[in-house]
Amino acid sequence: MIIVLKQGAKQSDIDHISEKLREMGLKVHVSEGEERTIIGAIGDERILRETPLEADPAVEKILPILKPFKLASRDFRRENSRIRVGEQVVGDKKIAIMAGPCTVESREGLLTVAKAVRKAGGGFLRGGAFKPRSSPYSFQGLGEEGLKYLAEAREETGLKVVTELMDPRDAEMVFNYADIIQIGARNMSNFTLLKEVGKLRKPVLLKRGLSATVKELLMSAEYILDEGNHEVILCERGIRTFENDTRNTLDLSAVPLIKGMSHLPVIVDPSHAVGRSDLVPPMCMAAVTAGADGLLVEVHENPQEAFCDGPQSLTIEVFNDLMTRLRTLAEVMGRTL
Ligand code: PEP
Ligand code: MN
Repeated sequence: MIIVLKQGAKQSDIDHISEKLREMGLKVHVSEGEERTIIGAIGDERILRETPLEADPAVEKILPILKPFKLASRDFRRENSRIRVGEQVVGDKKIAIMAGPCTVESREGLLTVAKAVRKAGGGFLRGGAFKPRSSPYSFQGLGEEGLKYLAEAREETGLKVVTELMDPRDAEMVFNYADIIQIGARNMSNFTLLKEVGKLRKPVLLKRGLSATVKELLMSAEYILDEGNHEVILCERGIRTFENDTRNTLDLSAVPLIKGMSHLPVIVDPSHAVGRSDLVPPMCMAAVTAGADGLLVEVHENPQEAFCDGPQSLTIEVFNDLMTRLRTLAEVMGRTL
């Protein structure tokens, strides 16, 4: 149920209505928009029918949200959500560029890539310290040592760090090093993990599952929002189809589709979608054209030697060239880079 307050409703109105709802045993989420404040009340909505909240002078109307995701929906928040990460913002005019190796391999390699990403104008450094590998015999990541290298690269370059959390038992550790906590495609439906990051006060990058619908992605986001963490960034990273010349199929229609259904920012990861470095730049351009709020791109100082996902990783040179082209496109699209 959402309670739309009248324009000009005061903080004291928001407080007393929220208090009333809590007394009824409902969970309260307040969304303060530019024009109106909306209060989301989650729980047994039958209780609301018995209470004449509509008569409250600060209330304009009460609407049911019939969707299985509520806080993630556009009904709950009409404006686009902007996620602040230090001086960077995801969901704004500026396209958020998150780039770096698939996995953190060495201090030197990571620093080389981080400096290149910074120089090219990127804002975020990506890199996994805990890797969800399909085979248990593949390199599993450096763990905390990798997180330390990421933190050092942040110190050195000012880039914000995006890194994956796989296990709720590592939540505190990853929280201490990351600026954005990534939940990988394979964990999109790990509801225990989603609830755990929902309790943290740090932005979460939630990737779409390999075979998940957009609705399922939004329901997973809802798990995080419902725990009180409203800083969720969604990521389209390709879905499984019968096509096998690409690793997955990049579902670019998901970008405008999600934008219509939800207020959350959406970024695109063409690297894991196509699995081939030659297809990454054109798909980055297409993603921005489709309205993506940012890009997650794998870049490696020497892709041929990469421990993980070398074939889809861009060289620094190709990444630089891509950034130049993205800058021109951004201008045409009324965006910045
Ligand atoms: C990654 O970004 O490092 C990754 C493993 O991607 P995905 O979860 O989308 O496969
Ligand atoms: Mn990868």
